[in-house]
Amino acid sequence: MRPRIDVMVFPEGKRKALTLSYDDGVIQDRKLVSILNKYGVKGTFNIGSGLLGDKNEAKVHGKTIDISKIEPEEVNTLYKGHEVAGHGLYHSSLAGIGSPSAVYEIIEDKRKLEELTGYCVRGFAYPFGWYNGKVIEMLKQAGYEYARVVETTGKFDIPSDFMEWRATAHHADARLMELAEEFINDEGFFKRTKLFYLWGHSYEFDFEDNWNVIEGFLDYVTQHRDKIWFATNIEICDYINAYRNLKYSVDGKMILNQSACTIWIDIYNQVYEIGAGETLNLSL
Ligand SMILES: [Zn+2]
Repeated sequence: MRPRIDVMVFPEGKRKALTLSYDDGVIQDRKLVSILNKYGVKGTFNIGSGLLGDKNEAKVHGKTIDISKIEPEEVNTLYKGHEVAGHGLYHSSLAGIGSPSAVYEIIEDKRKLEELTGYCVRGFAYPFGWYNGKVIEMLKQAGYEYARVVETTGKFDIPSDFMEWRATAHHADARLMELAEEFINDEGFFKRTKLFYLWGHSYEFDFEDNWNVIEGFLDYVTQHRDKIWFATNIEICDYINAYRNLKYSVDGKMILNQSACTIWIDIYNQVYEIGAGETLNLSL
C-alpha cells in the first residue's frame, strides 16, 4: 500500500466553512439576522429563555441603548433558517450556583427553547464563558452535543472537543479582516480544511455604532461563496461527528458512512461522496 492522506472536506467538496454564534437573544438580533439573511450566511443564537421579553438599557459612551430581550413569540420566526441554542435559563454562572440550580437552568432552558422552536435544541454557549468538568457532564446528560467557550484561537482548526469549542475570533478582534483574508487566501500545502468561527453579541454593534464591521466581513467572505460552506454550529458539529464516525476496512478500501449526513472525503486529491448509510468501495 502507498501512504495515504485522507482529508475531511465539507459538503460539495468545499474546504472552508463559516459559522457565527451570537449570544443573549437581544433586540439587535433582528438587525443581525436580516444582515445574515441578505448575505445568505447562517448563524447560531444562544438564548437564556427565562429572560425573553425582559426590558433593559445600557449606558455606553454617554448614550442609552435599549438592550431588551426579544419576545418569546419571536424566537421561531426571527431565527428561521438559523440555529437556536441554549445559554442557561437565567444566564447564571453555572459553575458556581450549585448543582441543582445549574441542572435546572440547563434542562428548563432546553425544554422551553424546544417548545418555542419545535426542534431538539442540541447546542449551548456557556454564560460568561464559565464552566468546569461538572457543568460539561450536566450538559451532556441533558443532551447537549457542543458548548462554546469565550476564549478564541485566531485559527481555523476543526475542534477536537466540541464541549469546549473555541471560536476563531470575536467580531471586535482588531485582526478580523486580516484573519478573513488568511482564511480565504491561504490554501496551505495539503489544502487543509478550515473553519472560521465568529462570535459576539449583536448589541455591541449598537454600543460601538459599527454595524459596518459585520457588513464588511460578510461582504468580503461571501464574495468567495463558491469556496465556503455557510452553516450553523450544529450542522458543522453533526457533519464532523459523522466524518469521525466513518468505519474503515483494514486495507482502507471500504469506508462505511452510518450517519444521516452525506460525507465528502478527499483521498489522493480526489473528492469522494459517501451517502448516508452507504459504503464507498475504492479501487486504489
Ligand atoms: Zn451571554
